[in-house]
Amino acid sequence: MDKQPAVQKGKIPSLDRQPVRTLKGVGPRVAEKLAHIGIETVQDLLFHLPFRYQDRTRIVAMGSLRIGEQVVVEGTTELTEVAFGKRRMLLCHISDGTGSLLLRFFNFSNAQKVVLARGARLRCYGEIRQGKKYLEMVHPEYQRLEKETDVPVDDVLTPIYPTTDGVHQLRMRDLTGQALQRLQTCDPSLIELLPTAILEKNGLINIVEAILTLHNPPPDISCEMLQQGRHPAQQRLAFEELLAHYLSLRQLRKSMQVHHAHPLHHDRGQWKKFTRALPFDLTGAQQRVIGEIMRDLSQPHPMMRLVQGDVGSGKTLIAAAAALAAIGCGYQAALMAPTEILSGQHLFNFRGWLEPLGIEVVWLSGKLKAQARREAMEKIKTGGARMIIGTHALFQNDVVFGNLALVVIDEQHRFGVHQRLTLREKGGLDGKVPHQLIMTATPIPRTLAMTAYADLDVSVIDELPPGRIPVNTVVVPDSRRDEVLLRVLTACRQGSQAYWVCTLIEESESLQCQTATDTAELLQEALPDLCVGLVHGRLKPVEKEKVMSAFKAGKIDLLVATTVIEVGVDVPDANLMIIENAERLGLSQLHQLRGRVGRGGKESNCVLFYQGRLSKLAKSRLAVMRETNDGFIVAQRDLEMRGPGEVLGTRQTGMVQMRIADILRDQALMPAIHKAAENILHTSPETGPLLIHRWLGNKTRYGNV
Ligand code: ADP
Ligand code: MG
Repeated sequence: MDKQPAVQKGKIPSLDRQPVRTLKGVGPRVAEKLAHIGIETVQDLLFHLPFRYQDRTRIVAMGSLRIGEQVVVEGTTELTEVAFGKRRMLLCHISDGTGSLLLRFFNFSNAQKVVLARGARLRCYGEIRQGKKYLEMVHPEYQRLEKETDVPVDDVLTPIYPTTDGVHQLRMRDLTGQALQRLQTCDPSLIELLPTAILEKNGLINIVEAILTLHNPPPDISCEMLQQGRHPAQQRLAFEELLAHYLSLRQLRKSMQVHHAHPLHHDRGQWKKFTRALPFDLTGAQQRVIGEIMRDLSQPHPMMRLVQGDVGSGKTLIAAAAALAAIGCGYQAALMAPTEILSGQHLFNFRGWLEPLGIEVVWLSGKLKAQARREAMEKIKTGGARMIIGTHALFQNDVVFGNLALVVIDEQHRFGVHQRLTLREKGGLDGKVPHQLIMTATPIPRTLAMTAYADLDVSVIDELPPGRIPVNTVVVPDSRRDEVLLRVLTACRQGSQAYWVCTLIEESESLQCQTATDTAELLQEALPDLCVGLVHGRLKPVEKEKVMSAFKAGKIDLLVATTVIEVGVDVPDANLMIIENAERLGLSQLHQLRGRVGRGGKESNCVLFYQGRLSKLAKSRLAVMRETNDGFIVAQRDLEMRGPGEVLGTRQTGMVQMRIADILRDQALMPAIHKAAENILHTSPETGPLLIHRWLGNKTRYGNV
């Protein structure tokens, strides 16, 4: 007799409370293995979706095979032979009257030779590849059919699940099958978390139907939609997943709001003096964004604001405006830059702006001499230094701030959510948390920002300072180097300054520096009339400083550099840039580099060198650079081509891998998800945590906030 208690309606625990151990065939060992891939309950199994499907529902005629497709074919062996190339292999030619195909086996037994012998009728499944002479399948699955009998094909698509060691495909399918049975008998209100109003408003199908469809797609389903993730069943789940992620970021943000911060505002007189001394007027966008920041800063809770603005849009000034509010109220502000060069550049600018106002600016460089460092640390601790500039060295444990009220992080994509959160601890002893301003020059589309940065408020600088002329960009093969050299010479003779950027295929920094050093020598030889300078990551900070200020002062005509100049370097007279191996760089990075020229109101040029022949994709990537100077468009195209993981640095931004949603493909859903989130927070707040738990599980992405 079955000892299990009889099933009583209403007494069955919900599926997220039923451990996988309760399924047939799952003992402690299998349960442990499943736990490795995040499957602990029956519900987890239901949400462990196939990552692709095989179509074994129809037999494809050999005359209509397409390369790259995975298909079932059926045919008769015409010739089977052992070939001796580099390796011994078995080649089996089959045909079906409409065409033929070569089956290739590298490992084979004598028994196989017999099964596959001439005249055998075979059904094979595999991927079609283009061989030297014929279309082929390498190591296909195959089955010998008896003559004249019809063996039916599958009537549903075969789901392929992500598996783990020791739990193979068939086992996974069996377990999922059991889970689906439980799904069909459970109380649907336990599994459908979204309120009916949201489902109806967004035309979403019921979750039970979505899950059933994705695990057992019916034969008439659109395979193409399924493979692209655009089937309504997938979109239904993607919606829910994005909603869960969004809600979790909202929660994170709310938890920041619990903390207290010093309300800040500008000292009127000081602010007036500051703006009057600027050699230009603020752009409309700068004024608007400063306004948005000041509104946040006036609150007794920490600001968490991201400013997106294209290269050259004047973000440094925004940072200074925010810093002045902290300083004007008697507190400290810190500015963190991703590189030493950039922090040096900021130091230069901030000293120029703030020292006339009697504000001391201190530089905490990772490479300061011990004595200088001790002095700087002391000033930071006592509060004597009001404006502190540095790299991430600023936030090492031994740096103690006297009364830090604002942290500005420049070029956000190099710092992660985690680091951002640790800044909290740098506030004073009064339990107040510093405001945070994050600035990025990799602008992303609004809908994407909603997902990626839902824990932040976002401001956009959508206007460049007046008089900027778009950089004229050309794409040139390396073989036309001489022409380009001539061009550099002519330009520099006419008073221009140029960058020559060396990038390397290898990751190694030392190799990169070596290449730059060699290139500088070669260029100096080829262009003896010009003064060629060199800057790379291995130089001592003082040496870098020296080279950069010589370039800034116009004493160097041509500056050979590694990508250390990528962010922030500002030399308005430079109006020509040559970038080597441009085909190897991401579009956003190229755009950042190119943003170093075209700042002085003079016509500027950028030459993208490439090596060898370009692939189609590489060509269209570089074409984007030629066609637009708009950082938003560049970022959008970069996202489409490389995906958000690469562009945003998924790990760094703190976004976890989505299971079914694709933040790029599904970005059109975001506005609706926004609304749905509002709705849930207001009308059924208990649903949020359930959704978050279902999709993010125990992964607390940001530690305890
Ligand atoms: P970003 O950091 O956004 O790339 P920067 O802050 O380095 O840009 O500014 C680029 C250049 O534009 C600098 O030389 C800066 O002095 C100048 N600049 C900033 N704001 C304005 C403005 N409103 N009008 C004219 N020039 C400006
Ligand atoms: Mg900048």
